[in-house]
Amino acid sequence: IEKIQEAAANGRTAFSFEYFPPKTEEGVENLFERMDRMVAHGPNFCDITWGAGGSTADVTLDIANRMQNMVCVETMMHLTCTNMPVEKIDSALDAIKTNGIQNVLALRGDPPHGQDKFVQVAGGFSCALDLVQHIKAKYGDYFGITVAGYPEAHPEVILGEEGATEEAYSNDLAYLKRKVDAGADLIVTQLFYDTDIFLKFVNDCRQIGITCPIVPGIMPINNYKGFIRMTGFCKTKIPAEITAALDPIKDNEEAVKAYGIHLGTEMCKKILASGINTLHLYTLNMEKTALAILTNLGLIEESKLSRTLPWRPPTNVFRV
Ligand code: FAD
Repeated sequence: IEKIQEAAANGRTAFSFEYFPPKTEEGVENLFERMDRMVAHGPNFCDITWGAGGSTADVTLDIANRMQNMVCVETMMHLTCTNMPVEKIDSALDAIKTNGIQNVLALRGDPPHGQDKFVQVAGGFSCALDLVQHIKAKYGDYFGITVAGYPEAHPEVILGEEGATEEAYSNDLAYLKRKVDAGADLIVTQLFYDTDIFLKFVNDCRQIGITCPIVPGIMPINNYKGFIRMTGFCKTKIPAEITAALDPIKDNEEAVKAYGIHLGTEMCKKILASGINTLHLYTLNMEKTALAILTNLGLIEESKLSRTLPWRPPTNVFRV
């Protein structure tokens, strides 16, 4: 987190890569091969998610340790309150502290599979705010704390096509400010595809006195089905021009990927042009799209890319 703040202060563009824990050991090894290649491009940090309902706790802890101490990249581990009494939370935090990891993304988490509503586990926390307060109280300034921000408001308060009401949106922002006031140093946002919504969100946060860096979470479109599933789950608004561009090519995997690179590049360009110089890439454990976007932006060297990857960005109308 200090590195992000430092980069912001020096006018450099900071970027980071997010990964999730694969289901199999072979998947984990593949991920580390990919991560090694990606880390060669100098991300400011990389993070690993915490499985829904605490399902991947041990794997996440192992991967985080390996990232920090073997891949040697500044690592942030996600941690949720779902199914986590405070003893389990502390045991996870103690484990990463012992391993020298200093960054945590403090989350409430989604309800466990099959449940509609988040229910606080006995002896656990009901929201990310409680978790931030707990980390601060117990670990002082040891951990840099990141929290989640929702440019379109949290999906639980989005009622229909129209999105969240003004009131629900401002309640959401006020709650986000409480998380920051409780000790969060950084906000990473939920994915979005309408860049204007993100820029308005940053402005609205600044208006109510949130001053920490707000890092846009960019999820490049890698395939059509995944895009529809994620945007449906998160209730993300899809601008009409994106639907229009994807509709005719949705069965052509390569064309969708190329469009994803084009769109991601354009979104990042607009964000960077607004003066924000941090980008967080939800890689979904894939390297090509994320690296192609950073290459297009001139943030990583193409020469290094061609040396490390047996791949070239496709040449077509979407290539920027
Ligand atoms: P909170 O900040 O606690 O709250 C979510 C919303 O509930 C708030 O926006 C607000 O509308 C309302 N709310 C809660 N408490 C209060 C209160 N006291 N007062 C008023 N309103 C309140 N999930 C995983 O399982 N694993 C992950 O690794 C993971 N990583 C994520 C990373 C990012 C960057 C993001 C954006 C999300 C991630 N998620 C992850 C999903 C996340 O767990 C869900 O979105 C979850 O439903 C909310 O978590 P939160 O920390 O935002 O919750």
